[in-house]
Amino acid sequence: MDLSGVRCLVVGAGFWGATLAERIAAGLGQRVLVADRRGHPGGNCYSRKDEETGIEAHVYGTHVFHTKNARVWEYVNRFGGFSGYRHRVWTEHQGRVYPLPISLATLNSFYGLNLRPAEAAAFIAGEAARDGVREPSNLEEKAVSLLGRPLYEALIQGYTRKQWNRDPRELPPSIITRLPVRSSYNTDYFDDPWQGLPLDGYAALISRMLAHPLIDLCLGVSYADIAGQIPADCRVFYSGPVDELFRFSLGALEWRSLRFEWSVEPVADFQGCPVLNQADADIPFTRTHEFKHLHPERGPQGEKTLLAREYPLNFVPGGEPFYPVNTPANEALLAAYREKLRHFPRLTLGGRLGSYRYLDMDAAIEAALACFDALREEGPAGKPWRERP
Ligand code: UDP
Repeated sequence: MDLSGVRCLVVGAGFWGATLAERIAAGLGQRVLVADRRGHPGGNCYSRKDEETGIEAHVYGTHVFHTKNARVWEYVNRFGGFSGYRHRVWTEHQGRVYPLPISLATLNSFYGLNLRPAEAAAFIAGEAARDGVREPSNLEEKAVSLLGRPLYEALIQGYTRKQWNRDPRELPPSIITRLPVRSSYNTDYFDDPWQGLPLDGYAALISRMLAHPLIDLCLGVSYADIAGQIPADCRVFYSGPVDELFRFSLGALEWRSLRFEWSVEPVADFQGCPVLNQADADIPFTRTHEFKHLHPERGPQGEKTLLAREYPLNFVPGGEPFYPVNTPANEALLAAYREKLRHFPRLTLGGRLGSYRYLDMDAAIEAALACFDALREEGPAGKPWRERP
C-alpha cells in the first residue's frame, strides 16, 4: 500500500475515528485515509442483518445510542434518523426476574414491599447505613452505599465478578455509577434525553459518515501493516490500544474481552425483552441479547428469533479488547505510555481503546469533536512531526 502523500491518517473506523475523519474531510477540506484492521467500519457498534432471520444483529453486543450532549445528538443525526427506542433491561436472580437499573419496581419486588418514592429513599439509606461506608473507594463500597448490601449481593456482586473476573473491591467505584438508582417506577436503562437506534442500522450510519469524497477507507489493514510507510509529516489519529502502538515496550495493559454464542430459536419471542442479564455467579454468561426487540418499529420480524449469549473472557493477544480494566496498576502503565506519547506531537490517541477509558458512543464522538476543535485552532499544517513510534 502506497502512503506517500498521505497527510492525515485515522487508525480505527469506530465512532471516534469516523467523526474525526468526517470533520477533517468536510470541515477542513483535507484528504484523509482511514484504516481499520477489521473487514467492516463501525468498531464495536457495528450491526448487520442476520442472513437466516433478517434480524439486525449487533455483532459485538447491544449498543443503544444515548446522550445528554446536544452537539453530539445534532451531529449524529446529520447521518441518518434514529428511532425513539428506549432501552429496558431485566435481570434474573435465583429464578426471579427484576427490572434494572434498580428502581422502585426492583426494590418493591425484591423485598415484597409497596414503598412510595420517599419511603424507598429512606429504606435504601437505612440499608446502606448498616454497612457504614462513608467515602466509597471501590465498586463494592460504592454499590453498597447506593443500594444496601442485600441488593448489591443479589444483583451486582455475581454479575460484576463474572464481567471483570475480579473481586468488586478491586474495581473503581465509577463502573457502578454508570447505572442510575431511582426511587420511581421509571425502568429506562438510561437517563439521557436523547436515545435511540439508527433507523437503518449502525453500518449504514457509519458508512454515510465515511462517504465523503475526501475520505479513503481501507479495511483489513492494521496499523502494524502500514506503520513503516507513514510519511514523516503525516498527522495520525490512532484509536487502537496504546500498548500495541509502542509494541508493548513497557508491558501489556489488561482488557476484558467477550465471546458471543449465537443461536436462532424457533419461537417468535424468546425472553420478552432485548437484554436479560444473569446476576448469579453460577451461570457463566452475563446476558442474553434478543435483537428483534431493539426495533419494535419493524414489527414482529418473523416466527424465529436471533439470540446472542454473552460470556466475559480474559483478553489474550490477538483477541478482541472490549473493556479497559482501570485498576491502579493499569493506570500507572497507561500514564507511562502517555508520557512516551509526549515525544510524538503529530500523534493523537482516542476512542475506547486508545484512551483506555470505558467510553460510551456519545463520549467517543464528543471527544472527537473536541479534538477537531483543537485541530482547527492548530491549522491543518499542524505541529512538526518528530518521530513515529
Ligand atoms: N452491573 C451489574 N449487574 C447488572 C448489570 C451491570 O452488576 O445486571 C454492573 C457491572 O459491574 C457492570 C457495570 O454495572 O460492569 C456497568 O454496566 P453496563 O450495563 O453499563 O455495562 P456495559 O453495557 O457497558 O457492558
